[in-house]
Formats: sequence, C-alpha cells, structure tokens
Amino acid sequence: MAEPTTPSVMEKIVSLCKRRGFVYPASEIYGGLNGFWDYGPLGVLLKNNIRDWWWRNMVITPPIGPDGHPIDIVGLDSSIVQNPKTWVASGHVGGFSDPMVDDRETKQRYRADHLMVAAARVKRKSGNTDELGLFAVLSGDDASDVFVKKIDKLARKTGGGEVLPPEGFTPFTKLSAEQRQQVVGPDVSTPGTLTEPRDFNLMFQTYVGALQSEESKAYLRPETAQGIFLQYKNIIDTTRVKVPFGVAQIGKSFRNEVTPRNFIFRSREFEQMEMEWFCHPDEARKWYEFWKDERMKWWRSLGVSESNLRLRDHEADELSFYSKMTVDIEYRYPFTAPDFGELEGIAHRGEYDLSQHSKHSGQKLDYFDQDLQVKLKEQGVSPEEIKAKSRYVPNVIEPASGLTRAVLVVLCEAYRNDPNRQGTTEMLSIRPQFAPIKCGVFPLVQKEGMPEVAEKLYLDLRQHFTCEYDQKQAIGRRYARMDEIGTPFCVTIDGQTAQDQTVTIRERDSMAQERVALDKVTGYLVDKLGNPCG
Ligand code: ATP
Repeated sequence: MAEPTTPSVMEKIVSLCKRRGFVYPASEIYGGLNGFWDYGPLGVLLKNNIRDWWWRNMVITPPIGPDGHPIDIVGLDSSIVQNPKTWVASGHVGGFSDPMVDDRETKQRYRADHLMVAAARVKRKSGNTDELGLFAVLSGDDASDVFVKKIDKLARKTGGGEVLPPEGFTPFTKLSAEQRQQVVGPDVSTPGTLTEPRDFNLMFQTYVGALQSEESKAYLRPETAQGIFLQYKNIIDTTRVKVPFGVAQIGKSFRNEVTPRNFIFRSREFEQMEMEWFCHPDEARKWYEFWKDERMKWWRSLGVSESNLRLRDHEADELSFYSKMTVDIEYRYPFTAPDFGELEGIAHRGEYDLSQHSKHSGQKLDYFDQDLQVKLKEQGVSPEEIKAKSRYVPNVIEPASGLTRAVLVVLCEAYRNDPNRQGTTEMLSIRPQFAPIKCGVFPLVQKEGMPEVAEKLYLDLRQHFTCEYDQKQAIGRRYARMDEIGTPFCVTIDGQTAQDQTVTIRERDSMAQERVALDKVTGYLVDKLGNPCG
C-alpha cells in the first residue's frame, strides 16, 4: 500500500481555493482542460481588487516623477485579435516559441528548458557504487525528491541499495545530441524515447470570417503590449499627452504553453497588466531605474513581504533580442522555494516595437518633440542640430506583470496554518484593502429581533464595501469560514444589542473582539479599512 503523504502548502492552497470558491478548474464537469481556470465568486472579487489597485496606481494617481512633478499615463482597452501582420512585425510569428521535447513512447510533451538531467548512482550493499544512467525530471523544488524516488524504485528491482542524491542537474538543452539520446524521460524507464528539442509557437491560431484559409488566419494575442504600440499614434494625435508618457492596459492574453503547471502560475489563458512608457532615448536609462523602484513599491503595497520579493537582472544570454536590459521581479512561491519565480518583467525595449511597426505598416511612428525644440533653441543649438534632435523614435520601458500571477502571490502570502484557531486551522491573512469580503454581518441567533437589526446594518455597510450577511450555523463556524476566505472584520448582533445598542466587532488576525455602538460601526470600519478596493 502506498504511504499516505502530507499535502504540500501548495496543495493546501489549491484545495482551499476550490473549497471556498476562489479558483475552479475550467470545464471541470467534462474533465477540465489543462491550463485553463475559472475564478469563482471570491476569486473574481480578489482579482478585481488587485486589478483596480494597479489601475489606480498607474492611470488615476500615477507616481510622482523623478523631477518631483506628476507624470501622465493613459489607459487603453485594445482588441484581443489584431491584424495578423502585428505579430509578424513584433517577432511573435517568427520567434515566439519554446523549445519542446516529445516522448515518443508516452506522447507526453515537455518544455526542453524545464527538463533537468542527472546521473543516477546507487551505493550497493557490497559497498560498490553503480551508475544507472542519465535520468530527466521536471525542474522545480521537488526535482531532487522526484529523482531519488524514481531511482529508488529502479534500484530495488536490481538488488537494492542506497540512492545517492544527484550531484547536480544539467538542463536537457545543454547536453550534446548524443547524450540526449541516453536520457531516460520523466515518465518512462528506458532511455532514448525523447525527441530532440523543437521550436513550438506559443500563439493560439484562429480564423476571422467564414472562410478558413491562410489569408483569414489570425492569432489570439500572447501579450497586451502590442495593442498599445498599434494605438500609439492615435493616442498622441487625439489626446494631450507628450513624451514622456505611458499607456496602460489590463486584459487577457493567451499562450499555448507546452507545460502549464503550478496552479494558475503558468496557464494558457491569463490576464496581464502592462504599461508602455514612451520616453526620449537619452532618458530611457533613468526611467528604467525609476520603474524598477516604483514597481517594487507597488508589490510591497499589496502586502508582499520583502523577504519573498527580489529583483533579478537578466544575463546577456537571457535577454530578448530586442531588449537592451531587463530585470524580473521575482517571488518565492511555495513550489520554487527556496528559489524564486517570475512575477513581473521590466524591460528596456529601446525603439524596437515602434520601428518594427513603422517598417511593416509604412506609417511614420516617430515623435516631434516641441518642448525639446524650444529648449535647444534657448541653448543656442544650431538649426540643423535642433531639427535632427527634436524628431526621434521614443524608447520604451515596459513593466509587464501578470494579474492572475498576482492573485496567486497574494494567496500564497496570505495563507496561514494556525493550530490555535477554533473551527479552522487555515486562514488567509489578506491585507484588508484587497480582501474579497471586507465584513461579515451576523445575528447571533435567528430570533429576538437580531436578524432584523443585522440585515439593516448589512444594507448600510454594503454601500461602502463588500459585505456578507450570514445567519446560519453556530457563530464559531461562521467566524471560521470568514477566516478561511480572508474577511478582516465580522460584526455580530447579540442579546446585548437590544439592551445597549452595541455590537461585537471581531478582527480576523488577532481574533480580538470589541464592543462598538451600533450607529458607530460604519464609521469605525470605514476608518479601519481606509480606501478599500471592492
Ligand atoms: P515566463 O518566463 O514565466 O514564461 P515571460 O518572461 O514569458 O514569463 P512575459 O512575456 O514577460 O513573461 O509576460 C509578463 C508577465 O505575464 C509575466 O511576468 C507573468 O506574470 C505573466 N505571464 C506570462 N506568461 C504567463 C502564463 N502562461 N500564465 C500566467 N501568467 C503569465
């Protein structure tokens, strides 16, 4: 009989998300569809709160610029399907691919750069060490464990012994073709079933109109950014923005990921929050540093702890071909710990996108900088130099993050296992501002006029923030459910309310209870919650 295993933190979070209505597998009654997820009643509230906070901090009240003055960022909501030439110009048709490897025996498909290979060694009872060959496992925090378990099974069949931990993994892609043929794939037991890595385009294709032909072929966008570049000229011509300025967009993106995994971390349909910052080429470096700082501040404002966040500069061989420099904001996910995984990329894209779209569309996408012209004139610069310097293709700094990945980070950061809690040991300590439900309103029992008072209070409170009214079950169970979904406050109307017009307010993290006058509850909570999302 297989030994019972304790669920990992990630498994517990996934289970809580399903049980309480945050995230469900998409089309579950048909067996699901790998890489697709639905956000349930609480998940959509949480996601919208994070989305609104990003929008507020980018478009409504963007940060103050390095010179102490406000900066301009405008919003956009562009189509998911664009003229397919867009993706030729952006490089996605030619280059948006991951190397993938198929297993000829099992028909499984893996991302080649996710396959980690190590030599298997077993110390036999005789004292000899046997080499059993090269074995591949999928990268991740449990790679070593998975590897040892697999080799252990194999060793038992061949006389037993102690499996020595792998001496270090090498990515499949870094092996020679000859070595790759000797590798045993993750789901088989014999070598030589893995194909050579092949490029696999990640864009989903569709057809526009009634005819399905090469001419009607189109793509679901793999990123929201290109829609911004396509409208850059219209935005300049129809609004009052001047370089430097930003255009922000939130929306769905689609990537036919080879190996969607780790819950909503890598899915095939997801949401992005991207901002393209257009600036003078000489100032691009300054703005790159500015956005690095600002974006880190934003993640901290979501309640993400400093020790779980880091900035990681891309190595030269990691940079996209168009990027001059890129830094990733990374988070220590439960499935990457002690290592980190990507949360947001901040890229200095130079003039690549605008130049490419200009070349492919035949439209001029350069910028005439009137302010700079005036400044140069004042400095006595020659007319030829002024002409040359005042017209340029802006450079772009792009902070690109995943909204659905942000939901995952907030959930991971908030998840607690507290053995001292009654009714549940699991809770979500979400920063109150972002909690899906801000306040639960409960009559202690369903009699003595308590439900009437509670319902009236609920109707008032929900004008200010998301509330839930619940009169069923014992009060302890109602508190426990609110702890599990991260509700920061619960108000209970009890027997004392009728006598002295006070209620109990319970705070989630400390479980402390306070008596507050009924007519002061709204003001009390509005004060505590500040300016909440949702
Ligand atoms: P990765 O290296 O994880 O594949 P990427 O570098 O290709 O990501 P970008 O193209 O920079 O990602 O996209 C910006 C952001 O969009 C990422 O930082 C991530 O938060 C989010 N994102 C990208 N791909 C996915 C996905 N398949 N599922 C969920 N979020 C994603």
